[in-house]
Amino acid sequence: MSLLDVTDLRVSFPTEDGLVRAVQGISFSLEAGKTLGIVGESGSGKSVSTQTIMGLTRGAQIEGTALFEGRDLLTMSDAELRKVRGAQIGMIFQDPLSSLHPQYKVGWQIVEMIQAHEDVSTKDATKRAVDLLRLVGIPQPDRRVDDYPHQFSGGMRQRAMIAMSLALNPKLLIADEPTTALDVTVQAQIIDLIERLQAEFNTAVIMITHDLGVVADIADDVMVMYAGKPVEFADRRTLYYSPHHPYTKGLIESIPGSEGGRARLKPIQGQPPSLIRLPSGCSFHPRCPYVMDQCVTDIPPLRQVAGSDEHRSACWLPVDNVGIGGEVDQKREAVAVARRGALAAESSEVIDDDDVPDGSAVDVPAEDVAGTGPGSSRTQALTSAPPRAQVRASAGQAAAKKAPAKKAPAKKTAAKAAPRRTPRNGAEQ
Ligand code: SF4
Repeated sequence: MSLLDVTDLRVSFPTEDGLVRAVQGISFSLEAGKTLGIVGESGSGKSVSTQTIMGLTRGAQIEGTALFEGRDLLTMSDAELRKVRGAQIGMIFQDPLSSLHPQYKVGWQIVEMIQAHEDVSTKDATKRAVDLLRLVGIPQPDRRVDDYPHQFSGGMRQRAMIAMSLALNPKLLIADEPTTALDVTVQAQIIDLIERLQAEFNTAVIMITHDLGVVADIADDVMVMYAGKPVEFADRRTLYYSPHHPYTKGLIESIPGSEGGRARLKPIQGQPPSLIRLPSGCSFHPRCPYVMDQCVTDIPPLRQVAGSDEHRSACWLPVDNVGIGGEVDQKREAVAVARRGALAAESSEVIDDDDVPDGSAVDVPAEDVAGTGPGSSRTQALTSAPPRAQVRASAGQAAAKKAPAKKAPAKKTAAKAAPRRTPRNGAEQ
């Protein structure tokens, strides 16, 4: 039995605008001493997943199971969860300044954390707080233990948060963007620190980040999330050298220096979608340079691909189209061109930010393209794809309806859309 087994976790938030489907069925297992990296842009559901596991998403509609040492965290009472949080599962948040209470000394906050779970004297707990601060590299810990959070630098505050999360020697540490607010040199120190402490205490770690570069050294396995779903899962080496999903490829190409010092960064076009009105079929299709007709109508399942036995990807491209570089990009492009019809062409037209009044993907009319806009059932389109011909007809009607509202003449849009179907390393880019 794994330390943590999460199965088909789904989290939704009812709002006045509709149901926000923040997490739509993620599953993973984590063994003691191992590290899972969860990567994705803001709004991909990575933080909500772990906050739900920790019982921190009040008011959410939650389905699935999260077994921690065989006990389901999702069905525990508040009192039971309080015993687990901190003592068995520690958490490091992105902004240590807002996680630490500004009116209490750093040492006192660590002491309080220890005494909330263990029957120890203040003197002993303070000694442990000093030892923990020393462990995470705070200079003169016996003196700094009496400092307030504002007297620490950003890096020292994050170290103090790590000390607090390790105070009770948890079996699992969840680090939610622990280095985002820090400069790069301190980022590297914090990652080294987490790695060192993990090796020392055999702690399992879930590292959540939007930056694939952050988990490049530390993760054993990586799960890439997009629009609330896992879109690719693999061991670290496979994911970096043989990615299958175009979104993963885009994230890797967005890492500064990933293609040499002088190469230009290749950003992923467009914005993440609204979690209330998701695009039909593959949620990534309005931004994908390889979009095909099937991508607009059918949701790709997470299936095994060629990287390794455990390599899974939710993409309709052939399973052997793995890797980075010109040759595999050409293969992807050839497949996409062969399988692309009017439906995908229309869809790729709407990924241009210039065509969206406020640059927000909330306004991307992918639902219109697939006939899932107002007046038709999005849920139906997401769960059972309509026949291709029917969708094409809807797409034609939607395009005709949309035409007068376009900012630019159709000719200009077509001219702008064309280069997007060229691989990003093509001559037109
Ligand atoms: Fe999604 Fe299709 Fe692109 Fe794959 S090729 S990521 S299924 S749009």
